[in-house]
Amino acid sequence: MADEFYLAGDFSGIQRFVLRVKTAGKAQAKRLRARSFFLQLLEHATLSILRTRFTLREEDVLVQGGGGFLVRLRAATDDTEFDRLATDLQDMLWQECGGQMQVSLGWAATPTAARAELERRKRMPGGGVLQREGAWDLERLSQPPLGKPCQVCGDFPGTRMLDDEDGKVLHCRTCVETRRIGQDLTRHEWIRVGAGELRVLGVAFELLPSKAPGAWRVGRWVPRDPNVGNPLTFEDLSRRSRGDSRLAVLKADVDDMGRRVGEVAASDPSYRRLQGFSSALHTFFGDRIRELLKEHWPLIYTLYAGGDDLLLVGPWDVTFDFASALEAAFRAGPAASHGGLTLSAGIALTPYRVPIRHAVERAEELLDQAKAWPGKNRCATLGGDWTWDQHREVVADGKMIADAVAGDVPRGLLLRLLQLAEASPDGNLQAARWSYQVARNVPRSGKEVTRFRDWAHRVVGHLDERNDQRTTESVASLRYALLATRDSAGGSYA
Ligand SMILES: [Zn+2]
Repeated sequence: MADEFYLAGDFSGIQRFVLRVKTAGKAQAKRLRARSFFLQLLEHATLSILRTRFTLREEDVLVQGGGGFLVRLRAATDDTEFDRLATDLQDMLWQECGGQMQVSLGWAATPTAARAELERRKRMPGGGVLQREGAWDLERLSQPPLGKPCQVCGDFPGTRMLDDEDGKVLHCRTCVETRRIGQDLTRHEWIRVGAGELRVLGVAFELLPSKAPGAWRVGRWVPRDPNVGNPLTFEDLSRRSRGDSRLAVLKADVDDMGRRVGEVAASDPSYRRLQGFSSALHTFFGDRIRELLKEHWPLIYTLYAGGDDLLLVGPWDVTFDFASALEAAFRAGPAASHGGLTLSAGIALTPYRVPIRHAVERAEELLDQAKAWPGKNRCATLGGDWTWDQHREVVADGKMIADAVAGDVPRGLLLRLLQLAEASPDGNLQAARWSYQVARNVPRSGKEVTRFRDWAHRVVGHLDERNDQRTTESVASLRYALLATRDSAGGSYA
């Protein structure tokens, strides 16, 4: 039995849990916010449990955030204690949020071995915690349905009727509890482990009006109406976009995170570098993002932010600009202090009426598309993917074209150019037709026409050379401009 152990833990199904809300109505933003708050408390509650059971010191928390942790345990500990911990955590998780989330643990004499053990246990069918989960599922299936299901999550029998923006809604016990957490955390800025009514995994939390010893700031920025102060709904947000009323879901995370963690851990046997690395990322995705949103991007909603990733919703055009700012802040922040770190993102557009989880799924697919390139470090949206510098250019060109349409360039021309660029690739013919359309429809002089002509001329070159990447980017700028100059919702450009 070694004196020093490393314990790696991981919650899977976090996103599924956050997005497991049935509604598409006005209460959607509020419910998602409540579940996102719950997750934040879940991470803190888990570490609090570890502190109590294993007398953990602050410097022993090597990695935290993003639904995972890695801690160093100095006291002699045996397998039975870890097994009991895994079972207890999973039991409490099941009681408080049903079968949506699973916790996995791995322990070993080194951090790398602990993480490998964690991965092994996660993959093991019917092993360890998973076996318990399987047993629960059977138990659950064999139960007769009790009354009407919860109208929020649909997972449990409803127990209480509560007033919502959409009228009276039947809530289950879990949804009543997360709703209360959401309300409490929207009203209070600071929180700490202590004597309070708010409980997650059996750990009590105390809400505070201001900073106090041991307290941390609730790391979620909530867009509010500047006049009334009420949190804005997704409908409110979509109405604040340019042109078409649409929301964008932005999903971003650090490239090659697993490999980086391994490298950093291997480079310093005291794991101080690993600790610094983890806390730099955690501070960036938690605190820094919150500051950025509060100061410059107040219309963007945080669905999730922590560890090495984030999931945000905002007015579509605002979100496009924010993505560029996010990458720049990341480059100046954690990437500057821990060389070679890069970030990729996927952005999916959606009307506010559709449940946001569909757009989240598409944003995930787009993120995978961005990461499929060697070197990653890309953004995928509007029918293509590109480097961050190109992203800025695509957006800048999109805005320029939209301004040209507000001037003397006819909007119908954009649709014809879009069709031409997307037609079967015959470079010379496409280029010739494109030139003809521009010459015929853009006035010789007028408001905003010069820059549009220059841009259109550059695209002729891309078509002619059959530069598919540049053509895709030009098409994306056209799509941006079409969205920005549309009066009402309709069509799909994600
Ligand atoms: Zn429910």
